[in-house]
Amino acid sequence: MAEDKTRCMKCNHEAIIYQPYSGMHLCKKHFSEDVERKVKLTIRKNYNIGKNEKIAVALSGGKDSCVALYILNKIFGKRRDLELVAITVDEGISVYRERSIEYARKLTSDIGVKHLIHSFADEYDTSLDELAAKERVHGACSYCGVLRKSLVNRIALDIGAKRLVTGHNLDDEAQTIMMNHLGGDVERMIRLSPPRELEGLVLRAKPLRKIPENEVELYAKVNDIPVDISLCPYKHEALRNEVRLMLDDFEQRHPGTKYSLQKGFDKMVGILAKEFPQAEIKKCTICGQACTTDVCQACRLLGKT
Ligand code: SF4
Repeated sequence: MAEDKTRCMKCNHEAIIYQPYSGMHLCKKHFSEDVERKVKLTIRKNYNIGKNEKIAVALSGGKDSCVALYILNKIFGKRRDLELVAITVDEGISVYRERSIEYARKLTSDIGVKHLIHSFADEYDTSLDELAAKERVHGACSYCGVLRKSLVNRIALDIGAKRLVTGHNLDDEAQTIMMNHLGGDVERMIRLSPPRELEGLVLRAKPLRKIPENEVELYAKVNDIPVDISLCPYKHEALRNEVRLMLDDFEQRHPGTKYSLQKGFDKMVGILAKEFPQAEIKKCTICGQACTTDVCQACRLLGKT
């Protein structure tokens, strides 16, 4: 008898998704379980979360970081020895960030997670809108990414967090791996490997790295997680968009391409790390943050040199 394509392969209830890379149709319950199982496996394999840890989650209010926080709270929320703290950075992107912060506030209040909000205005005495309006050599995303990363790391250090979770999903990681291949940038590629302890830098964790972007979106929808789906007005990184289209096209014609790219990278990265040891960590002579040069990238972008 022909298989009913709209039925869940695990329980025969109505399917809400077909995963071409696994060949499975899944209902709401089994889809959510599949995502959570992959997240747990990623954490167990890559991030050795011990007892009495404080885990910081970088929360923008967008789908990826909201889903990461929601699932982590589901997995660890009942453990008394672990504390989750959400950190939101207000970069000063008019309308867009104000709206996404409201989603971040709603989620943290719904699930009862402590929420800290820090702004570029307070920390750097400027905003991304102001920086973007000036004459500049880099794209707005370079300023935003570097300054936000630096600020989130410092807040996480200040609150004594052992880990810093970000919402990067499978698509983000496959795109970054491909972009680094295209640019021949091996050193940058190694930075995607599971983190090691370095003084002054909080260990990073990406529990959604095995979850395709469309599944993150669907997980948020079926679990009623409040997420901001609007797009940042500065989001026009040309190369990443080209790579995204190319990988999406490949994925459609050859399901599993993004997983294969990531799997190949995971096998290679240990060997590469031996050939290209990471640079020694120093302290920025201006702000004191950990970096590999005398002055960190954030201070250089802010013109403090
Ligand atoms: Fe910042 Fe660029 Fe992301 Fe906008 S798209 S939030 S500018 S990194």
